[in-house]
Amino acid sequence: MNNILIIEDEEKVSEVLKAYLEKDGYGVYTANNGVNGLELFNKHDFHLIILDLMLPDIDGEEICKRIRQTSEVHIFMLTAKGALSDKIEGLNIGADEYLVKPFSPRELTARVNALFRRIGGKQSDILSFDNGNLIIHKEKRTVTVKGEEVPLTPNEFDILYALAENKGKVLTREQLIDKVFGLDFEGFDRTIDVHIKNIRKKIEEDNRNPKYIITVVRVGYRFGGE
Ligand code: CA
Repeated sequence: MNNILIIEDEEKVSEVLKAYLEKDGYGVYTANNGVNGLELFNKHDFHLIILDLMLPDIDGEEICKRIRQTSEVHIFMLTAKGALSDKIEGLNIGADEYLVKPFSPRELTARVNALFRRIGGKQSDILSFDNGNLIIHKEKRTVTVKGEEVPLTPNEFDILYALAENKGKVLTREQLIDKVFGLDFEGFDRTIDVHIKNIRKKIEEDNRNPKYIITVVRVGYRFGGE
């Protein structure tokens, strides 16, 4: 599921956007000020941030800069009508797109859908590691180890894919839950550990000394394949 964070102090705007985006199948979180927005951003894993330029505490430009220090996530900035200089400055600080208020929720969802089609289209369909010993096929949702197809459950596949796609980066259990089950899932972090254990049995040569799914103590997991 693609997760979106809306940082916007006008509740009416964010409620309407949330409803439209959820109808189109996105997981949506909202924050009504910059502090809450950054807190959510640090806690969860988002694919898009919809950020209002004028917020009561930290302004949108500053939030954009802070997000850009650690993340390449897509940012749509919302700005008041006619604020052209803001528009130029916003592009310089790393916002990817601009929407001038007032805009229709339909227009915004159309642009969000277009963005996800675009980034979806850019990703390669096949991830290959260890000279082809481990191949993950995204569209077919299959995994082969040394040429043999290994049956994974849908959740196991999603967890493995999330880790492999973010090769080298540590993902927390919470981030994995967000990616695999969506933001609404109210489960335990242990759920992930159980799945990881099962995936290792299926893909690792020695599951006590795994080379693909590495445990990062007290943080989460990272993909170790090359
Ligand atoms: Ca505002």
